[in-house]
Amino acid sequence: MRQIDHFISGGAGASASRFGDIMDPNNGGVQARVALGDAAVLERAVQAALAAQPAWAMTNPQRRARVMFEFKRLVEANMDDLAHMLSSEHGKVIADSKGDIQRGLEVIEFCCGIPHVMKGEYSQGAGPGIDVYSMRQPIGVGAGITPFNFPGMIPLWMCGPAIATGNAFIIKPSERDPSVPVRLAELFIEAGLPEGICQVVHGDKEMVDAILDHPAIGAVSFVGSSDIAHYVYNRGVANGKRVQAMGGAKNHGIVMPDADLDQVVNDLAGAAFGSAGERCMALPVVVPVGDDTAERLKAKLIPAIQALRVGISTDAEAHYGPVVTEQHKAKVEGWIQTCVDEGGELIVDGRGFKLQGHEEGYFIGPTLFDHVTTDMESYKEEIFGPVLQIVRAANFEEALALPSKHQYGNGVAIFTRNGHAAREFAARVNVGMVGINVPIPVPVAYHSFGGWKRSAFGDTNQHGMEGVKFWTKVKTITQRWPDGSPDGGNAFVIPTMG
Ligand code: NAD
Repeated sequence: MRQIDHFISGGAGASASRFGDIMDPNNGGVQARVALGDAAVLERAVQAALAAQPAWAMTNPQRRARVMFEFKRLVEANMDDLAHMLSSEHGKVIADSKGDIQRGLEVIEFCCGIPHVMKGEYSQGAGPGIDVYSMRQPIGVGAGITPFNFPGMIPLWMCGPAIATGNAFIIKPSERDPSVPVRLAELFIEAGLPEGICQVVHGDKEMVDAILDHPAIGAVSFVGSSDIAHYVYNRGVANGKRVQAMGGAKNHGIVMPDADLDQVVNDLAGAAFGSAGERCMALPVVVPVGDDTAERLKAKLIPAIQALRVGISTDAEAHYGPVVTEQHKAKVEGWIQTCVDEGGELIVDGRGFKLQGHEEGYFIGPTLFDHVTTDMESYKEEIFGPVLQIVRAANFEEALALPSKHQYGNGVAIFTRNGHAAREFAARVNVGMVGINVPIPVPVAYHSFGGWKRSAFGDTNQHGMEGVKFWTKVKTITQRWPDGSPDGGNAFVIPTMG
């Protein structure tokens, strides 16, 4: 059976006593096993990182950027292989896997400009003969802990800025689909990155705890579910680390009465069901404003949902593939039952879906509920599957309150032709990323990604300038070059610019 090993110091290594199963979501069953590491494995990676990092930090930023350019070229050249590898473990369709990698590569493109964005500030003549300037320096050794749902994009969100700014970076990918991050680390070496600067350690809670407790790791970036994000944030910060920890989501799409409903239905189908709903920026809740809008929307949504094609991840015609594991399938189907029990009106039921020839695959048909209300657990919690819930609102204020009061605040969208309503909504909604007639408002790489409330712990977003800030410390220098004449200052009084 294929085995996925840690990637330490430029090569596969470190023996393991525990292994995790990598499932085949299209067909069911185990397709590979991954080594599950511990503190001893991490120690090897940290020692390699500590040995390699000072020279990498001293490498001038243009040379570091050239590694990013070459890495981008190599990932593009290997795109087909990477996408197939990603789909085979995750289950998303090939075109979507390419998008997963491409969105990560766009962060690498941003990092090709690292010499420019790392420039500090300078004030000439801040006092008599005094200049003040600042510089950004790497943290040293950083770590990333990533979820299963974007095994290309999210590792690249982190390793691009971490490495380009001069850190050594250790990634602990999801143990459900760890192959792509290992391949990316290999490509970094091929691109000219020194050994020890990008390493991969595999594992579960044991490895995560080892990372959070290791004194030489100065910064930890986490993306995953909210309870784990909160735990990682608390433990990392208690150990004196810089931590950013992105969590779960329940994104709402507000549909105003004047919206172009054909466009909305088209957008919703992709945003709610694409990648089987396993996206933190999926739109699993739609909020039509007014019953008339709700009825018109529902009439168009039902046939659109019934026309969706669920298939294996290599089916070029499929809109989406299986969910990641059998347990996840059972969990999503459990939520569908909960919503039924709570009084949601089940309009389209995706349970029991069987794909001919792939009966053991983890497929769930698209599911639609109407009359979901805010007191239902299935509304309050993230389902993370191909399930769309209609929550009706009587007016704009009621619609605005729904995502604003929800425990999660990752993304939200409003669909309208009314610029004033859209502007008002964007200004007032209590959510971190807003789409105006854009269903999945994932910011481009040179802006930054991050939610509010229980969707993110810590105060720095992913990628863009926020990413550069997270992976660097600011050092500020106040300099004076005396000309030899005594300045007569009193050294016992705090210097002021008065
Ligand atoms: P998860 O929380 O189960 O796992 C994330 C990481 O944490 C993995 O590397 C895993 O090994 C580790 N982990 C799991 N249990 C742990 C524990 N008890 N202690 C320490 N570490 C542990 O998340 P997932 O199922 O892989 O991913 C889906 C979740 O990620 C969803 O909630 C989704 O919304 C969220 N997500 C959020 C964003 C965002 O940017 N906000 C992006 C993508 C996914």
